Amino acid sequence: MSEDWHRWTWQMQHRIRDAEGLRQYLEPTPEEREGIEKLAARFHFVITPYYASLMDPDDPQCPVRRQVVPHAAELDDAAGLADPLDEVAHSPVKNVIRVYPDRIAFCVNNECALYCRYCLRKRMVGEPDWAMKRRELEEALDWIRHTKEIRDVLLTGGDPLVFSDDKLAWLLGELRRIDHVEIIRLGTRLPVTLPFRVTDDLCRLLSEHHPVWLNTHFNHPKELTAEAADAADKLTRAGIPLGNQSVLLRGVNDDVATMKTLCEGLVRMRVRPYYVYQAQLLEGTGHFRVPIERGVEIFRALRGRTSGFAIPQYVLDTPYGKVPLDYPYLRGREGDEIVVESFDGRIWREPNPAG
Ligand code: SF4
Repeated sequence: MSEDWHRWTWQMQHRIRDAEGLRQYLEPTPEEREGIEKLAARFHFVITPYYASLMDPDDPQCPVRRQVVPHAAELDDAAGLADPLDEVAHSPVKNVIRVYPDRIAFCVNNECALYCRYCLRKRMVGEPDWAMKRRELEEALDWIRHTKEIRDVLLTGGDPLVFSDDKLAWLLGELRRIDHVEIIRLGTRLPVTLPFRVTDDLCRLLSEHHPVWLNTHFNHPKELTAEAADAADKLTRAGIPLGNQSVLLRGVNDDVATMKTLCEGLVRMRVRPYYVYQAQLLEGTGHFRVPIERGVEIFRALRGRTSGFAIPQYVLDTPYGKVPLDYPYLRGREGDEIVVESFDGRIWREPNPAG
């Protein structure tokens, strides 16, 4: 393998963007070919060579392949919406999404290393209209400066780590100069899709702006490679707490064994499984959606069968904020007792006098 392979800029420059490029890795099925052709004008596809190398060329159901190769099924989703969380309506200035009083998602970039087929922000990713010009970034920073309740800023997109180190240094420096911004969070999939982005220089830069937290986005154990583990290790050594946010996806991670292997593998890499999102009612993603009851059962099956901190919170994001989707272990009150159900279905009554 050439030295270039390990350079993140080389990976970005050599991304796969058409059927011919994809054929270096696999022969697309008729359904994939149809998806590639018909979705060229609407959420076309982009894949890093690194992530493409994880795809199984012999298995169209490969969970890595399903996440990034277009499929005809995307054309058949009458229920899907362009902006199911009403993010545009929650934006006081361009690309700043405010659902809660004290924190914002700041979509600083419209680019990603690759395009996930189920992306919540597919309206934005790769679309020039959503790019943030320097002037627009400054306007958003100004809004943060004048909105004193904002103590937690999530830099997301797209992907903030697609920015150069220089641009990131400027942005982080500007945020750090705002007294009321206590925490900077990064939402990035690059440790999964382009782990070579996590260079020593990047880690040094991030560590100069602490407290910085980072949430990444692994969906399947196949993504837990030695390269990804190395990226997580570097970030951890730079003092950055790491969390993971997956999306529950049909045919990718919607079974107990896969989810358990993923979560335990993340913990071994010192990445805390944080959220698993219910897939949104998003255009072109009907074939990925899993009934919520099934999701609840998957996480119920993990309870008591692995370390508590290896079990992420399963949530439904709504325009009103995130809603936890928990199995109802708390069964209710009976007289002076609270009735609860244990992980293996046994009933316990805990004395709990009222008032
Ligand atoms: S990395 Fe995140 S923002 Fe980018 S395409 Fe994938 S899901 Fe969307």
